[in-house]
Amino acid sequence: MRASVLFEQGKPVQVEELDLEAPREGEALVRMTASGVCHSCLHAADGSWKGVPVPIVLGDEGAGVVEAVGPGTQDLQVGDHVILSWAPTCGRCHFCVIGRPNLCERRQPGRGVLPDGTTRMSLRGQPVYHYGHVATYASRTVVAESCAIAIDTRMPLDRAALIGCSVMTGVGAVINTAAVPAGASMAVFGVGGVGLNVVQGGVMVAEPRGHLRPDRRARHRCHPAAGRPAPGHGRAGHPRMQLRRGAHAGGPAAARRPLPGGKAPRR
Ligand SMILES: [Zn+2]
Ligand SMILES: [Zn+2]
Repeated sequence: MRASVLFEQGKPVQVEELDLEAPREGEALVRMTASGVCHSCLHAADGSWKGVPVPIVLGDEGAGVVEAVGPGTQDLQVGDHVILSWAPTCGRCHFCVIGRPNLCERRQPGRGVLPDGTTRMSLRGQPVYHYGHVATYASRTVVAESCAIAIDTRMPLDRAALIGCSVMTGVGAVINTAAVPAGASMAVFGVGGVGLNVVQGGVMVAEPRGHLRPDRRARHRCHPAAGRPAPGHGRAGHPRMQLRRGAHAGGPAAARRPLPGGKAPRR
């Protein structure tokens, strides 16, 4: 199979023909059809994250079609369309059992290996590591069964690929991490893969259902470099001050509601 391989952090990746072992117990071989490009992989490639094992195939969000399954595989069949996830779950460890599968003890963060601690890719007999358990910058990849989630075959795979990282990170930040309630105001700094999905998460919890009102004035007052005040606006133009004003306004839902004591919301 072909893959783009990072041999040294800070150097460009190179396309290589790699050997790929057949899937072992509880694993699947996936023919990749689409891969997102995540900023995490850029950190790994440019060396901002230290200690990334090399050589490594990067890529942590992708989608494809199952071509083969290893023995004992329970949930996947050849021909399934799948989204790849960098978060394997065993279903048996402490965290999986208490309903926190994102903290599964079988995960091997930063080690470039599959959950059993080994690799399936090699180049001239030397192991090649798998970024994020899935290594999506490849024509084919072998993953743990729990890292491949079967989906409806009508879903276009180039869009499904994004669900593997940026959608679950952005939407998850709104729904799970921040637990944003309906009617709240949100400030989103940067609308790349994750930021756009924070907005999508906001739409999902917005009140009334699906109606989100972006504050375009705030957007225009902000300097394009997030976190810096707009030139000429001084302290009042600093995004933090704008956020405070926005929080006082309380967003569309709160703006209609009188504050306790009958005072109108302050603008
Ligand atoms: Zn990612
Ligand atoms: Zn587990």
